[in-house]
Parts: sequence; C-alpha cells; structure tokens
Amino acid sequence: SNSFPRPLVAGNWKMNGLRASHEELIKMQKGYSAELKGKVDLLICPPATLVHAFAHANLGSRIGTGAQDCHAQQSGAYTGEISAEMLADCGASYVIVGHSERRQYQKEKDADVAEKATAAHQNGLIAIVCVGETQQEREAGRTLAVVRKQLKGSIPAGSSADNLVVAYEPVWAIGTGLTPTAKDVEEVHALIRSDLRRILGKVEADKVRILYGGSVKPSNAKELMSVPNVNGALVGGASLKADDFLGIATAY
Ligand code: PGA
Repeated sequence: SNSFPRPLVAGNWKMNGLRASHEELIKMQKGYSAELKGKVDLLICPPATLVHAFAHANLGSRIGTGAQDCHAQQSGAYTGEISAEMLADCGASYVIVGHSERRQYQKEKDADVAEKATAAHQNGLIAIVCVGETQQEREAGRTLAVVRKQLKGSIPAGSSADNLVVAYEPVWAIGTGLTPTAKDVEEVHALIRSDLRRILGKVEADKVRILYGGSVKPSNAKELMSVPNVNGALVGGASLKADDFLGIATAY
C-alpha cells in the first residue's frame, strides 16, 4: 500500500528481556519479509541493557532499535541515568519519552518530557513522545483537553517529522485488554494532527507518524490501524513475541 506517512509499528518491551531474548528478535527479523518491508517500519525498544546488542544484530535488517527513556542532560553526576548520547552511541535511533508509566512512577511532567525530547534531538535520535488520558480524566470528559495540554507541553522547539513521532496511549487501555472505540481513536488522532499543524506547520505536521498504543494485538490491529490519522502502533505486551508482533505488522 502507499500509506502516508509510512506506518511504524514499535515494540516497547518495558522491563522485560534478557540476553536470551535475542532469539525473539531473530524470529522477528526472519519474519520481516520483503513484502512487509515494503509497507511498514518496525522498531523494537528493548531495555537499555539490550540496546547495543539489538542495534548491532539489526545491522543487516531494517528493524530499528530504540530505547524507552533518556536523561535530559548529556552527561554528569546523575547516578543510574542514561543519556541520549549514550543510547545513540549504542546504535539506538529512537527513544520513547513521556511514557505514562514514567509520568506516573517517576512523576515526569510535560516540561521534563520536552527536555528529554530535546536531548534526543541533539543526539540525532527520533523522540517518540507519548500522551494519553487516565480513566478518571476520560470519565470526566477531559480526554481532549488533557491530550492537547500534554502535546503542547511535551513537544520541544526544533521538532520536525524527521525527529518526532507522537504516540497516543490512553492510560486505561495499557495492559488491560481494553481499547477505545475506533471513533474515539479517530477523534483524538484528528485533534493531535490539527494541533501538530499549529505547532509545526501543515506540511511538516502531515508527515509526522501518530501511533496508537494500548492493548494492540493481532486481532484488533486491522481495525485500529485503519482509523484515519493512525500511522502505526506502539505495542507493549504483544511485542514480546515475534508471532504477535509480526501479526500486528501485517495489519498493513
Ligand atoms: P500494551 O502496552 O500494548 O501492553 O497495552 C502499550 C504501551 O504501554 O506502550
């Protein structure tokens, strides 16, 4: 197909994966057929401990490697942290920033997410900026307002279609098996597109991939991926197994 922008199916492995998980990556590489390569970009974001190995194992294939977070500073006295420069040095080409688990557990705010995205950009990484409402916010009818505020605060100056991917992930849909209706997804993605036009200008905004994330699996991928302005998926649980991940990719 000639989907525009070119779809991206990204796997977020979260805190899962040991060196032996390399086997699963190899299965994914084998299943990433020429036909699939013609239609969709694939990306795996393993834990930081595996980024170097996965990026190097991927040199001969076109499955990209990303990380799940980065620090806003380039280097220094930040025990336990990993900089965007280090991730780029290990071969990552993408980094997820502002995932709802980090917003929740690490109390990351929009401004923190924007700083991390800037660090990513300064080191040649594509930032996957995540936004999405909680169940409580949805029930209060605040979904659109929350997503707009997060988007505005999390996308830094200097963003373009070459260094930015946006992921809409309703918090209540992550890891729960619940998904919004196609109509709800369409409404939020259309709003994200129109706000991106305001921020980046129309030409650039229309090239940005807007991913849907939250309980994407092979059985619902086709419906979700056919929604207007859904240019791919950010997949958690179902990205750990090659069969599931490739099953989602073949929705295109
Ligand atoms: P899930 O996670 O696919 O397991 O719901 C999605 C995510 O958190 O990116």
